[in-house]
Amino acid sequence: MPIIKEKDLTFFEKTYIPQIVKGMILTLKQIFRPKFTRQYPEIKMETPASLRGRPVLVLKEDNKERCVACGLCSRVCPALAIEVQANETEDEKERYPEKFEINMVRCIFCGLCEEVCPEEAIVMSDEYELVFESQEDAIFGKDKLLIPEKKLEKRLKYLRENR
Ligand code: SF4
Ligand code: SF4
Repeated sequence: MPIIKEKDLTFFEKTYIPQIVKGMILTLKQIFRPKFTRQYPEIKMETPASLRGRPVLVLKEDNKERCVACGLCSRVCPALAIEVQANETEDEKERYPEKFEINMVRCIFCGLCEEVCPEEAIVMSDEYELVFESQEDAIFGKDKLLIPEKKLEKRLKYLRENR
């Protein structure tokens, strides 16, 4: 077995001054290096189009939802987070969701609802901050889900280019 002999420290080393100086030099160097952290929440993340934030419903320019209440998203959702109740409409699309709810506590942001929707009516937005004070607050109805198409252009474009 090799014998490791402890090195005797000089008087100067015993004062810890060289180590303190080394530490201070290292700290000073770091101060002038580019910063990789950001002051969240004041400075928000620049979200890429591929980000899967909370799912939302597309609101057309005529102020109506694109959804035709086919229920596919609800059936495919692995977390059973979506509830759709269809009703008839005089519009060309014939059906619309009278009730459309997503339980955001259950949602795992998998994006399957978006993938399966035949109408590009439900998409993953760039909203990643979700705060609830109760279970009821986490159930998002049409009032919170419907987002104007213009605001979702980035994601819609990304979907069209990557399908
Ligand atoms: S993102 Fe996934 S878990 Fe969330 S509602 Fe859509 S299918 Fe369900
Ligand atoms: S969001 Fe799409 S998949 Fe879901 S019910 Fe509406 S049209 Fe069908």
